[in-house]
Amino acid sequence: MSSKKVAVITGSSKGIGKAIALTFARSKEYSAIVINARKLEEAEQVVEEINNTTECDSAAIVGDVSQETDCIRLIEETVTRYRRIDVLVNNAGIQKDIPLTETTLQDWYNIISVDLTGPFVCSREAVKQMKTQNDPAGGCIINISSVHQIIPKPHYVPYATSKGGIDMMTKTMALELAADKIRVNIVAPGAIDTDMNMSLRTDTLELEETLKKIPIGRIGKAQEVADVVDFLASSKASYITGSTFVIDGGMTLYPSFGLDHSHDSNHIFPKDSSK
Ligand code: NAD
Repeated sequence: MSSKKVAVITGSSKGIGKAIALTFARSKEYSAIVINARKLEEAEQVVEEINNTTECDSAAIVGDVSQETDCIRLIEETVTRYRRIDVLVNNAGIQKDIPLTETTLQDWYNIISVDLTGPFVCSREAVKQMKTQNDPAGGCIINISSVHQIIPKPHYVPYATSKGGIDMMTKTMALELAADKIRVNIVAPGAIDTDMNMSLRTDTLELEETLKKIPIGRIGKAQEVADVVDFLASSKASYITGSTFVIDGGMTLYPSFGLDHSHDSNHIFPKDSSK
């Protein structure tokens, strides 16, 4: 039996998920990568790239992670085809800019079911399989969350709530599954250049405002997230579980507390308040 691993990455037809899939495939650590997306043509483009440029095998399994039956089928079809699952990356995610008072229950369910329920069902099903493998190398789940599991985001209540939920779901699963040698961790990106952030490519004002929140002073690349996921999925991270790795150029360091000489502090807090 090959000691190489089999990975499933949800939402891997583009963006961060695609970068993770290609990074795994090029690492020579994997025998097969399953590409999941809702549209077959998009998923097949990534499959073709992996099959044509690496020694790793790849297959597309179409499915909507907001549907329990699709998540169950994704894991079942992976096992039928490749006999095992070593790594699951719950990456698929959506967001929507809507004020709280205009957020319908349907909006809430749409976002929560992709961003939180999908990772729950895919993890549950993958863990059932990982436990049967009884592999000394164990299994690994990586949830792609967001800095918004920490930083509140007005107009994004269902999104930030989902990502906050991923935080506790990950820690709880990590504790429950440690004895089974299944590690569960989070990678939480800041602002990354993908289609999800299309407006940062076209709206200079929005880009400027966003950069003010990033001490490193630039938008991140999908590859920079993928490299950390690759590390966490590898044996180099064998002692890491229940942790969050934030990839955000310092966004979560409270940048407004950074050295900024544009404010006159004497004006806001007069040195001698008796005057
Ligand atoms: P993206 O929009 O470029 O790609 C999202 C992927 O998910 C696509 O392949 C899409 O087809 C797939 N997808 C969406 N809904 C799905 C569903 N119901 N079922 C199956 N697949 C589905 O987004 P991205 O920027 O690559 O985001 C990936 C993850 O990273 C998401 O969980 C997102 O919340 C998170 N994230 C992204 C950023 C960023 O700045 N781009 C920041 C923080 C967190």
